[in-house]
Amino acid sequence: MTDNVNNKQEILEKYREAGRILKIVRAEAVEMVRVGNSLLNVAEFVESRTIALGGRPAFPCNISRNDEAAHATPKAGGSDVFEKDMVKLDLGVHVDGYIADSAVTVDLSGNPDILKAAEEALAAAIELARPGISTGKIGAAIEDSIRSYGLSPIMNLTGHGLSQYEAHDEPSVPNKRVEGGIILREGDVFAIEPFATDGEGLIHEGGSWAEIYSLTRKKPVRMPAVRNVLKQVEEYRKLPFAKRWLESDKLEFALIQLERAGILHSYPVLLESAGGLVAQAEHTIIITQDGCEVTTK
Ligand code: MN
Ligand code: MN
Repeated sequence: MTDNVNNKQEILEKYREAGRILKIVRAEAVEMVRVGNSLLNVAEFVESRTIALGGRPAFPCNISRNDEAAHATPKAGGSDVFEKDMVKLDLGVHVDGYIADSAVTVDLSGNPDILKAAEEALAAAIELARPGISTGKIGAAIEDSIRSYGLSPIMNLTGHGLSQYEAHDEPSVPNKRVEGGIILREGDVFAIEPFATDGEGLIHEGGSWAEIYSLTRKKPVRMPAVRNVLKQVEEYRKLPFAKRWLESDKLEFALIQLERAGILHSYPVLLESAGGLVAQAEHTIIITQDGCEVTTK
């Protein structure tokens, strides 16, 4: 084999290793999602277990409930416990920057159809994924699956490409029927993530409050407290991180300064616009010669 081929195989092996770690952590975390259990415990378990197994969190453990579609993670010292919620656990693991991204819904709310619709849509998308097919066709399969339940996909959330230290790379993979789209090629790595809802199928940002951030571009900062936080943040490269991962007496102040300077981007919680319940199912796939390999299944 040439070095180039060797290198490709090594990279794929890192994607697979990230997937193997994620599967273990996901199975254990799902067991912890019970009425009365602490969200913070689950998030901290996911992140520390990932590291214990030889991976790194690719982003904070997202625990979004009910009409929260994504980007919720417990705050430091948070005392929230699970109630009869529709719970989305969205986990990211990386090995040398090569990411596995997967989400499951644990339904404590008694709405199994919403969960089934999201899972079935994901299965339909995976069934189609192979070289030569367009992301538009995949989006159509996702939309049709979810509509067959009398539910709506969340149309302004998408799956996405993955690359080294890039948790949301191009192209996006729509959750609805679109014209055209991008043609998949062998070796592409994607996260496919349908969301099903009994709401209107759109999300919006829920205010300015955020627990998740990422570094957009480095710029020099003068104030020592701000510089100290920036230094901690740089460890995560461009990957999202949680506010609760950072330590500073002036954390809120530093984050506001860094966001104002365009150095950090914040991720407010995404809410279903009609207050509908949201279920999500997500896997990471590698496009192979005649189909795809699911690294997180
Ligand atoms: Mn995800
Ligand atoms: Mn994703």
